[in-house]
Amino acid sequence: MIRTIYKGRQIKVLAVRGRPNHRKLVINGYTIQHGWQGDDTQALDWFRLVIDRIDELVPGTEPTIRAGYMDAHWYEPGTIDVNPKGHATAPGSVCLCILCVIDDPAGSKARYAPLAPDACRDCHQLRDGHQYNASLFNPHHYIDPTPAQKAARQAHLDRFAQLDEDDEPTCDARYHKDHPNYLARPQCLLLADHRDAAPGYENRHVAAGGFMWPREVAQ
Ligand SMILES: [Zn+2]
Ligand SMILES: [Zn+2]
Ligand SMILES: [Zn+2]
Repeated sequence: MIRTIYKGRQIKVLAVRGRPNHRKLVINGYTIQHGWQGDDTQALDWFRLVIDRIDELVPGTEPTIRAGYMDAHWYEPGTIDVNPKGHATAPGSVCLCILCVIDDPAGSKARYAPLAPDACRDCHQLRDGHQYNASLFNPHHYIDPTPAQKAARQAHLDRFAQLDEDDEPTCDARYHKDHPNYLARPQCLLLADHRDAAPGYENRHVAAGGFMWPREVAQ
């Protein structure tokens, strides 16, 4: 039997009754193998190999997902964020696995936004109303996030606010009646002052799909 901490993970290698050449493998309280073949030393070596490899990858990104290390128990608590799916992400970031992403025509959007700066260290819940049993495999009380988590989450929000400020108001004028090619009345996508219109077309509204109408028409 081995109980140790390797690179911040609690590792357990436990005997399996009646099967001397098998071990039960547990990482951060989560059983990943009930009958791993080998002895204690081999099991610990295997853990080290896997964890060393994991620490070369960025959680939530494609190489991590391809290797199958989405779940939070593979990581050192407090060095990652844990989204509502239980998947690990870099703090202030998102998981790009297909379970966490919705495909839409504009590109793949993450279903789960990065966490609030003061969300729990080990899950997405806030202190207020944090439920002990919300995470099936990791029941826990609220734990303060680490400074690194807080900083990364805040940095994401700041980036987002920056983008928001750069966003100029659009014209948004609507065509005065329905159009057979559009579900709703066509809406102008140009900037409010139309300075992004094609040269010579400043006095025309332009909807998605290219439909144009004169700027003077009553709305
Ligand atoms: Zn995911
Ligand atoms: Zn929590
Ligand atoms: Zn317009």
